[in-house]
Amino acid sequence: MVVDTGWLTEHIRDVPDFPLAGVMFKDITPLLGDGEALKFVVDTMADHFAGLGVEKVLGIEARGFIVAAPVAYRLGAGFVPVRKAGKLPWRVETEEYALEYGTDRLQIHADALRPGERVLVIDDVLATGGTASACARLVEKLGAKVAGLGFVIELEFLNGRSRVEAYDAMALLTYG
Ligand code: AMP
Repeated sequence: MVVDTGWLTEHIRDVPDFPLAGVMFKDITPLLGDGEALKFVVDTMADHFAGLGVEKVLGIEARGFIVAAPVAYRLGAGFVPVRKAGKLPWRVETEEYALEYGTDRLQIHADALRPGERVLVIDDVLATGGTASACARLVEKLGAKVAGLGFVIELEFLNGRSRVEAYDAMALLTYG
């Protein structure tokens, strides 16, 4: 079923030159602050990945958490945080990744996923794909399987999809 998501654009704020000159930041806080839009995003994403037997939903710090947790609830799955290096208290696995603006490291608790578990990865924006592909590698390092990747926004001109083409990746809104 094709779902009309275009109306969500009125809840996305474009912030030029944040956090660096030349970056057009897609601010989803107006969307998160609107009950109808937030419910629509969570329900549409959960519906898209329903039936795949998702057992864990992995949210990427920090905006990814906000969508991933209610999607996990809707799917009857667990929620797993992936965080910037040094934030998780337990034993971790680490992956390096490149952002649209800079590089960093992401970590997951080493015991957060069981081998063979089906995992849905969620973030707010797919830009260059560095973050999402690092998360997919973390999932696979723990022996689990990426069941899909879900984003509120895809910045198509940054071609992030090419870095996650091995997976079922969906975005609610695409900016060309
Ligand atoms: P990337 O690794 O290049 O795909 O970048 C994706 C990550 O960086 C996501 O966690 C986003 O929250 C953030 N991000 C990158 N570019 C933007 C942007 N233009 N607007 C908002 N968030 C962005």
